[in-house]
Amino acid sequence: MKNSVLKKQIRRFAGVALAGQMLLLTAAGCRPNSVNGNFDTKGGNPWICSDLQENLTPDLKLSKVDDFHLYVNYDWASTVVIPEGYSGYGVHTRVYDETIEKATKLLTDDSVEGHDAELIRSFYNNILDWETRDALGVTPAQAKLDDILSIDSIEEYSKFICDKERSNCVAAPIGFANDVDLYDSNTYVTMIGFSGFVLGDAAEDKKRTEQGDRYYDGLLSLNKAMLCRFGYSEDEAKKMFDEVIDFEGKIAESSLTSADYMSVDIYDKIYNVYTLEELEKLAPNLPIREYAENFGYAETNKIIVAEPKQLERLNELYTDENLEALKAYSLVRYLRVMSRWLDKEALDANLSAANIIFGSEGKQPYDQLAFTFVRENLPVPMDRAYVEYYECEETKERITEVCEEVIESYREIISGEEWLSEETKKTALEKLDTMKINAVYPDKWEDYSDLDFTGMSLVESVEALSDFYLTQDAKDTNGSPDPDIWNVDILEANASYYVLDNSITIYVGILGDSYYYDGISDEELYGGIGVCIGHEVSHAFDTNGAQFDKDGNYEFWWTDEDYKAFKSRADKLIKYYNKMTAWKGERIRGENIQTEAIADMGGMKAVLNIVDDIEGFDYDKFFTAYSKSWCDIESREAAYTMLTQDVHPLNYLRVNAVVQQFQEFYETYGVKEGDGMYLAPEDRVSVW
Ligand SMILES: [Zn+2]
Repeated sequence: MKNSVLKKQIRRFAGVALAGQMLLLTAAGCRPNSVNGNFDTKGGNPWICSDLQENLTPDLKLSKVDDFHLYVNYDWASTVVIPEGYSGYGVHTRVYDETIEKATKLLTDDSVEGHDAELIRSFYNNILDWETRDALGVTPAQAKLDDILSIDSIEEYSKFICDKERSNCVAAPIGFANDVDLYDSNTYVTMIGFSGFVLGDAAEDKKRTEQGDRYYDGLLSLNKAMLCRFGYSEDEAKKMFDEVIDFEGKIAESSLTSADYMSVDIYDKIYNVYTLEELEKLAPNLPIREYAENFGYAETNKIIVAEPKQLERLNELYTDENLEALKAYSLVRYLRVMSRWLDKEALDANLSAANIIFGSEGKQPYDQLAFTFVRENLPVPMDRAYVEYYECEETKERITEVCEEVIESYREIISGEEWLSEETKKTALEKLDTMKINAVYPDKWEDYSDLDFTGMSLVESVEALSDFYLTQDAKDTNGSPDPDIWNVDILEANASYYVLDNSITIYVGILGDSYYYDGISDEELYGGIGVCIGHEVSHAFDTNGAQFDKDGNYEFWWTDEDYKAFKSRADKLIKYYNKMTAWKGERIRGENIQTEAIADMGGMKAVLNIVDDIEGFDYDKFFTAYSKSWCDIESREAAYTMLTQDVHPLNYLRVNAVVQQFQEFYETYGVKEGDGMYLAPEDRVSVW
């Protein structure tokens, strides 16, 4: 549940778009006719963007040698109806739908005993207790709202944000969190920084794009809907919201953008070490000491400030003159959080805002949303109860075997690289040998025994949770991460590589639908989860992972010459993607997606190396399964966000741009010069 910027940057996910399930700021969008996504989706080069249903017109000529992703997925993708509340739909959402169904069975089975079951059931039932929620209306938020409004000086505001109980669930402009030290993966350091931008990215405050407009419109509508419930007029609500945008715009001037964080040379920039005393000098207006003491971070040995300039800027603005803006910042964000937990009218306002932002329509059934809320907020009790209920030992064994097989294959690839010196090879192989395999579910979990919801309302439970996580995080101060605890939510349809402990994690939540089932063929197994596992292993050796050693420390382990050769291979990959356009006027951002593209291609290579030994292996079936594993259509809003903000390539490129690098693909389908899938041998990209 750690939320620091650094952790988000460091854990690389398989990049599965979980459309629409996470309300506001984490997911969504799939309808062509929505209000904001205003651009021409035609004109993709060398292929049309087949992630967009509106591009899948009946006149298209389907050919496996011209556009493989389109050929394989056209029938399904052009006709599927995107469910309400989803901003996209595809194989990963279908996998998640299976998880929802299974989890709902567990959540409604009163015979299941134990602390985990009690916690998740209590939370789930409270979420769905509309009678109580609607009877209370917005009153559970009134006291905190009044408290924020009554603040009349910057000193009082400081007292408020430093009071753990008073400010529970309210965003302060600064936040502390412990996270693993980049240079010493056995130790936690304390991170401090600005709590984030309402528009989601400092770049949007500097120069607003189509995406920033959507965030602005969506969140303004939510703010109006919420404040009107407390007696404000729409104009007053807008004024307050604009005050926040104006304020964060001043901070954005001195802030890094999402694109900066995607850059592979970000680490040195954000690793700025401070003591508490030095931090107090850097930002004397901010109540750093008091905050650290009250929240349990005062004894920290090491503080990392990702953006000292940003903190200095916040310090300058932390004055009585800006008091109303600071209060508005806290209030707007508090109401956004509470809109989930108050009555149905509030939740519906939240869902409508999500639709504006992500281009979805309607809403998912409340019981489905309730499960997602439980999963997101109680990941350990939910996940642990789930794997116990469904007994996943056999799956764990099988997936572990595939992971071992893929790692062994990677071993062969690295050993055979002619452009690498023996010295670098040796270190790379050590990194592979020490790589931790986290398959399906962990054997050890974080301790939730202190958490108890007995007799609590929904809002009280949410406050108890917030307090629990703050306390848990502070306990890590100067401590060491437990290598057996995974720190991920395994019911997500996902997989990841974690660079700070050199581990791959394959979640139980991705092992459904065509990714994994009883009796799955080798071709489907390797084309789906096999390549996915290869992808995660490759992250250890992408331009990001290459900067970390076998123990997860930020440590250079290459010879200069080898690293130069590696970089030039990665540069060729970047140039290859940069020549493409998703649609008219929008080129693919090769720099942003390089790590994920390297992992996609490396994963495919590792698996092709394995299946080479399987007698009678059906390559057509294999490539088709791979292509289907990336059949996810998106709203134009979601596609735009993915193109501009995501480190993952668009889904159709994860197929076409990958398979056209491999001779097996050319041979399977007889692809030749002049075909849309053809790439001249000298232009083919291969980092690994
Ligand atoms: Zn990835």
